[in-house]
Amino acid sequence: ESNSNLIRATLFPGDGIGPEIAESVRQIFKVAEVPIEWEEHYVGKEIDPRTNSFLTWESLESVRRNKVGLKGPMATPIGKGHRSLNLTLRKELNLYANVRPCYSLPGYKTRYDDVNLITIRENTEGEYSGLEHQVVRGVVESLKIITRQASLRVAEYAFHYAKTHGRERVSAIHKANIMQKTDGLFLKCCREVAEKYPEIKYEEVVIDNCCMMLVKNPALFDVLVMPNLYGDIISDLCAGLIGGLGLTPSCNIGEGGIALAEAVHGSAPDIAGKNLANPTALLLSSVSMLCHLELHDKADRIQDAILKTIAEGKYRTGDLGGTTSTTEFTNAICDHL
Ligand code: NAD
Repeated sequence: ESNSNLIRATLFPGDGIGPEIAESVRQIFKVAEVPIEWEEHYVGKEIDPRTNSFLTWESLESVRRNKVGLKGPMATPIGKGHRSLNLTLRKELNLYANVRPCYSLPGYKTRYDDVNLITIRENTEGEYSGLEHQVVRGVVESLKIITRQASLRVAEYAFHYAKTHGRERVSAIHKANIMQKTDGLFLKCCREVAEKYPEIKYEEVVIDNCCMMLVKNPALFDVLVMPNLYGDIISDLCAGLIGGLGLTPSCNIGEGGIALAEAVHGSAPDIAGKNLANPTALLLSSVSMLCHLELHDKADRIQDAILKTIAEGKYRTGDLGGTTSTTEFTNAICDHL
């Protein structure tokens, strides 16, 4: 029975530890009385010819219709003749920006305690266009595609994000001294957008220097925007600064206002089905989904409860050096709600 006061959202529990951590989200949303009705979709066992993927057409339609969803990790089945699940989602839903907030979690000590940055990765082109071929024996070529349209779109998203989230600065990360045409165009687009946002400081940082600065003093950065490959690498580097994959959320932004939040990590087959997974990354992703829906009071409450549970240090899953199970950790968060 659907209730018209509820917001419908698509949920892909995914594979491996996915169903366990998705259950944690469901439980916490129930306790926090979040007005969301989940439409659950599982990855199929057979290829759907309409999508040429194990994801069905109905699953994609569900996200298109609801415009908002949460995704667990998906293990792409091995075999030829179909598209990777994540690639299918990215292409079909035109998920053009991947947004990863990264901030130090109080009570979980790493080398840094003042990380508070956002990486925004262009998600559709660059080095990931999939255009590789052999020119002659022993020589191969890979095409890096940068377009004005995709660069403007991700830059616009980054500045809009900075403005609406009280951020002060956007840094465009590049290697335009070497990749003069491609990264040069990316920077040109960032500059054009920067002019429309005089209240936001804008700077350009060369990727190698950016890496050095990030490990020396991550507090130097605020919002970072970059082409696909740099974003892939830098966002993992940033996850490492604050304690690893069990903790880092992300959100994919697509055309027409679609937001598909997901944990950054994979299906963790080594610990799947054992009640050992840390649900924090997916939980914080669900919080970013709530922010996108402007359910800020619910988002704040849930985020507070997660951060308090981690800060308390009493309940910690294996990846953070503890022995707490997924369900115990989830119950502890519920107690803080
Ligand atoms: P992984 O992220 O699944 O695991 C790497 C290590 O981190 C493992 O030791 C795992 O136990 C640990 N880990 C990950 N998440 C954890 C959590 N929440 N709590 C505790 N420990 C956690 O990476 P992998 O082993 O390279 O990939 C496994 C599968 O996941 C592959 O099939 C891959 O294609 C898929 N994958 C999917 C996504 C996605 O859907 N976005 C991302 C990465 C990998």
